Amino acid sequence: MLTWRRLHVKVRAAHAPLTSRLVTRQHAWTHGHLTSCLKLSTSTALRKDFFKDVETTFVEMKKKAADALPSSNWSPFYINPNLPPERADIVIVGGGVMGWSIAYWLKKMENSRNGMRVVVVEKDPVYTQASTVLSAGGIRQQFSLPENILLSLASADFLRNVNEHLNVYNEDPVDLQFNQSGYLFLANEKVAHIMEENYHIQSQFGAQVSLLSPTQLQERFPWINTDGVALASYGLENEGWFDPWSLLNGFKRKAISLGVIPCTGKVTDFDYTVTLAHMYDQDVMVRRVKSVKVQMPNSPEYQPVECAIVINAAGAFSAKVTEMLRVGSGDKYSIDGIPFPVEPRKRYIYVFNCPDGPGLDTPFLIDYSGVYFRREGLGGNYIGGASPDEENEPDAGNLDVDHDFFVEKVWPELAHRVPSFEKLKVTSSWAGFYDYNTLDQNAIIGVHPLINNMYCATGFSGHGLQHSPGVGRALAELILKGGFETLDLSVFGLDRIMKQEPVLERNIL
Ligand SMILES: Cc1cc2nc3c(=O)[nH]c(=O)nc-3n(C[C@H](O)[C@H](O)[C@H](O)COP(=O)(O)OP(=O)(O)OC[C@H]3O[C@@H](n4cnc5c(N)ncnc54)[C@H](O)[C@@H]3O)c2cc1C
Repeated sequence: MLTWRRLHVKVRAAHAPLTSRLVTRQHAWTHGHLTSCLKLSTSTALRKDFFKDVETTFVEMKKKAADALPSSNWSPFYINPNLPPERADIVIVGGGVMGWSIAYWLKKMENSRNGMRVVVVEKDPVYTQASTVLSAGGIRQQFSLPENILLSLASADFLRNVNEHLNVYNEDPVDLQFNQSGYLFLANEKVAHIMEENYHIQSQFGAQVSLLSPTQLQERFPWINTDGVALASYGLENEGWFDPWSLLNGFKRKAISLGVIPCTGKVTDFDYTVTLAHMYDQDVMVRRVKSVKVQMPNSPEYQPVECAIVINAAGAFSAKVTEMLRVGSGDKYSIDGIPFPVEPRKRYIYVFNCPDGPGLDTPFLIDYSGVYFRREGLGGNYIGGASPDEENEPDAGNLDVDHDFFVEKVWPELAHRVPSFEKLKVTSSWAGFYDYNTLDQNAIIGVHPLINNMYCATGFSGHGLQHSPGVGRALAELILKGGFETLDLSVFGLDRIMKQEPVLERNIL
């Protein structure tokens, strides 16, 4: 078959004699002088002009067509060279940190090299809205649920040794900029007993945390105003913050090097079968995905990818994925009427400067008011914020930042706790979406009972980044080995959603 370039050259060659003949005759007629015409007829410059003219005409036609359309950045349709394969073993919807971590672990655990075809579909390759890159980058062991504590411990170990896992031959090492520094939780009288209970659970499961009285707190961090503080808990290891972008890219680069296929496109629909089953004392429709419809960017072109398993790692928008399979649309008293409980909730992060603020040993401080801050690099820079009350959730239809929220809700608490912050100056800000689980603000990990070949890893509500290494490994085990092996995360299964039985984590920010 001729390539486009070879075809083009042939067309040019076929046109050349014709062009020179036309030029010859025209010049002969205009000037009545054959000799000069013959000279002109051999000129390649004129032949070039012909094609230049055609190209100019084509560009003009394209511009006219573009002007006639409502959008000015119109471009003609083209054959997309990056279509996903027509068949895959596993399609992962969402190429955030979770999707790529799962992809990495699946390939790492496969029995024979290239034995399994894994495709990661991501609609936004520059990640303008992904929670991963808009997060605060924190990792802590101070949770109340043993599974969350153990996940953090596993992740901290992974992060500390990241290049043993994610190194790629001949590429630069992953630089996570892991700043190891404790989280400092402050409790008032009302919640001090919960802090103490959490401390016992944390210690039991191997987390290194110390409890501080207000006097000890003052001695350790003299810049803190201890008014209202009854107790503090301070993480002694495996806590801090790191660069989320580097972790996401590290997983992605390694997974691709192991054979995972990246695809830029949007999952817009599924082809699936439905069978009747009896579960939870009801007759219910159970779906099975046959293929995933992937819409290509800036194009009406799409590719159905037949697959055995789908993984829903679409973060804050993972409910949209289950909606495509009509889950949650049944009778509201049946389990088929239970919507997938994940929605985007907007959270702001403010960057501020305060030359007289606390120094290098500043922890990731979480006040009992809900306000938090940590150091950001050197030179008196910090980031901070707070979650709004349930009744005052901001519009999640955009990522605009509310600056009044800082002035009214965040700054007064910051300045109360750290008096030098009275003089801070906000230098920038951003907003991101929590993948908020409305049932219990905890992870949703496992197979969907109503879609028997869809696995989920979502709903992390503010702690998904730090748990991505452990969750990726756990989900890969569940899929490839038929059960959790290293860490039993069945508590986060979807059974609790069907039964509407929350599994509460008391340390949610
Ligand atoms: C302000 C803020 C602060 C946070 N701070 C922390 C923190 O300190 N520590 C911590 O551990 N966590 C934190 N988090 C939470 C953490 O960022 C998330 O839990 C985690 O990043 C979730 O990762 P993900 O891959 O599931 O989601 P995402 O990063 O959102 O990735 C999901 C991807 O799916 C893609 N997608 C969605 N639908 C489709 C579709 N139909 N087709 C194709 N692609 C699709 C999206 O484009 C997106 O890129 C914070 C979050 C926010 C917003």
